[in-house]
Amino acid sequence: MRTVIKTHRIELKPNKTQQALFRQCVGASRFAYNWALAEWQRQYRAGEKPNEAALRRQFNAIKPVELPWILDLPKSVPQQAIKNVGTAFKNFFRRVKAGEKPGYPRFKKRGKRDSARLDNGPGTFQLDGKRIKLAKIGWVRMRESLRFDGEPRSVTLSAEAGRWFVSVPVRVPLSDLPAIDARQSVGIDLGVSTAVTLSTGEKTDGPKPLKRYLRALKRRQRQHSRKAKGSNNRRKAAARIAKLHARIAHIRKDWTHKTTTALAGRFALFGVENLNVRGMMANDRLARAIADVGFFEFRRQLEYKTALRGGAVVVVDRWFPSSKTCNRCGCYRESLPLSVREWTCTECGTAHDRDVNAALNLQRAALASGSCPDSKACGEAGSGRSRKTPVKPASVKQEINHVSIGYG
Ligand SMILES: [Zn+2]
Repeated sequence: MRTVIKTHRIELKPNKTQQALFRQCVGASRFAYNWALAEWQRQYRAGEKPNEAALRRQFNAIKPVELPWILDLPKSVPQQAIKNVGTAFKNFFRRVKAGEKPGYPRFKKRGKRDSARLDNGPGTFQLDGKRIKLAKIGWVRMRESLRFDGEPRSVTLSAEAGRWFVSVPVRVPLSDLPAIDARQSVGIDLGVSTAVTLSTGEKTDGPKPLKRYLRALKRRQRQHSRKAKGSNNRRKAAARIAKLHARIAHIRKDWTHKTTTALAGRFALFGVENLNVRGMMANDRLARAIADVGFFEFRRQLEYKTALRGGAVVVVDRWFPSSKTCNRCGCYRESLPLSVREWTCTECGTAHDRDVNAALNLQRAALASGSCPDSKACGEAGSGRSRKTPVKPASVKQEINHVSIGYG
């Protein structure tokens, strides 16, 4: 049976003592990671062949004498961190072998993605409804209970803007997901003025949380800049900004999860554009709105949720002019400024909504998946303005093995 690993991230409600222990855990994790990375590099330079299993034994040997404070924490925490160093090098060498140019594993910095993983060894952790028991820490309350049935493989503690979370990966069978109608296809235009436009004509606005919180954010940034550098008050002001950023990100992610889940449940085949987000970001006025909608995250979620149900997301190349091509006759408009929301095709006279027309073209591209959609209609008109719709072979992603679902 095919299975996938689903990860549920749950917010924790630790008391003061537990929070202090959590901070020590992520500290120990970072310490062990950096220690193992430095030791790996030293051994490599000395002509030895470093490996993570030997490093873990080495760490255990020095722990009681040199690092007594680590003995008060779950022993799994430094062990998993050292395993992560092994994984980082494995990935690094795999990518080098594949001819890529990966970044060399880097040292972890305090406050940057602080986390600590505990494996599923005996007595390491235990879940019970809306609480979790962690070795050496005890029972910690959770905001919700685990959504999936199955044996958790590990748990990872992480901090984000003063809040604590636990991520729990669980292996679940693929067949648990509802079947979809394989004939259903749709094109999706991700835009700035309307977040999502479907080829069915439906339009959905994004949550635009950033706009709503922008004034508060600006105020907090002003307050931050007025505080003396290195002062306690400045640090507090920075924490308030981080908190607001985190809230905005959560609202956005929640909306993205709901929207992509609904779409993946309705359609089997998607045509989406490979947006040049970096290029669009250069245009400052657009940048904020784009960041607000979170295009990258939207497509990432749509891809894995569709793959889970056996469907496909066809990513159409950026230079396919989905907005400027008439979906009816295939003729191509030389220019179509972003401000033009509606236009009429000069060849066939069809009135177009800019975004719906783009979505329809993306749907056709998905259906054709690599060949010109309806080449009879779009290639033979005599006018110099008409041309074959240039659809490039699209990349179809169908296999995934790790997904993550939303959190409360
Ligand atoms: Zn036309």
